[in-house]
Amino acid sequence: MAVMLLTIITYVALVIYCAWKVFISLELKEQEKIFQESARSQRLVEQRESLHLEKMLFENEALEILTLYEIMKEISQSLSEKEAFEIFQKKLSAHVVFQECLLVHPLSDEINDYKKSPEYFLFPLQGRGGRIGFLVVRGLAQEDRDKFIILGHQFALALRRIKLYQEIERIAITDSLTELHTRRYTTERFQEELSRAKARGMKLSFMMIDVDYFKNFNDQHGHLAGDQILCEVARLIRENIREIDIAGRFGGEEFCVVLPDTDRTGARYAAERIRQAVDRAVIKAYDTEVKITVSLGVATYPEDGAALEEFVDKADWALYRAKREGRNRVCSFGIYD
Ligand code: GH3
Ligand code: MG
Ligand code: MG
Repeated sequence: MAVMLLTIITYVALVIYCAWKVFISLELKEQEKIFQESARSQRLVEQRESLHLEKMLFENEALEILTLYEIMKEISQSLSEKEAFEIFQKKLSAHVVFQECLLVHPLSDEINDYKKSPEYFLFPLQGRGGRIGFLVVRGLAQEDRDKFIILGHQFALALRRIKLYQEIERIAITDSLTELHTRRYTTERFQEELSRAKARGMKLSFMMIDVDYFKNFNDQHGHLAGDQILCEVARLIRENIREIDIAGRFGGEEFCVVLPDTDRTGARYAAERIRQAVDRAVIKAYDTEVKITVSLGVATYPEDGAALEEFVDKADWALYRAKREGRNRVCSFGIYD
């Protein structure tokens, strides 16, 4: 009986032990699963966080690109250096911490002083044919340096575009041989000055200049030497007029000058100065040294008329009078009539 009881107890204990073993192994497996799941979930959380960070970075980058685009759009609308730089400064203030920003000419003496001072940060603006300027910035925050450089490159692009436009504009109004204004531009400016003279009750004179016996000169020395003479005459005209006068090549070997706020006496005086300068000059054309003269005709507003064409005709008439009277002289319309 006792043996039987012992056997039953042993059997029950064995069953309990086995059940416990099974239970423990199941629990271990479950724990292992839970552990794996929690590691997976941890990885997912980390992945989510890094994606969120990446998204924020992309958003920031997109915002910066958009800002840059907006800045460029505004600067590009301007065709003046001064205006473009003002816009650039305004935009810079909104995105970068600094105290002062200057646009300095590449050949300015001040550049070396700025370079020596640690207070200033210099950003060279590169053009196609070399340096077109410097952005000199004082008190630039260290963490904003990269942003400033990006904006600086954008400004350099805008400045290059403006300079190119200015050059095209200059070429369009400049005679390629003599570097004086073209006839078209001179006529436009003449019309403007005439309207201004009428509105303000001021005088205005117009001068026509023609090289004497130029055909003979071309025949003797050749067309290329003739071209050099024309350049030299143009230079002498430029040197003997005021800053506000407008000199142009009227055509061939004929030049003209618009003289704002100038009466007949003043215009004759200016014409005489040009005549004498040409008369005195010994002009070097290739290996030849030559002396030439010019004849000049002058017409004045309001005495000689009110329309542009009338002035051109009358100055031309005065010029031919100067030719008829022996050349190398100044005649003004009306003085002999
Ligand atoms: P005048 O004293 O009467 O003015 O005599 P001229 O020989 O100068 O006569 P005109 O003014 O009619 O001659 C113009 C000459 O100028 C004709 C042409 O050969 C020359 N010419 C016109 N344009 C140019 C140019 O661009 N280069 C050169 N070398 N000669 C030119
Ligand atoms: Mg002529
Ligand atoms: Mg001539």
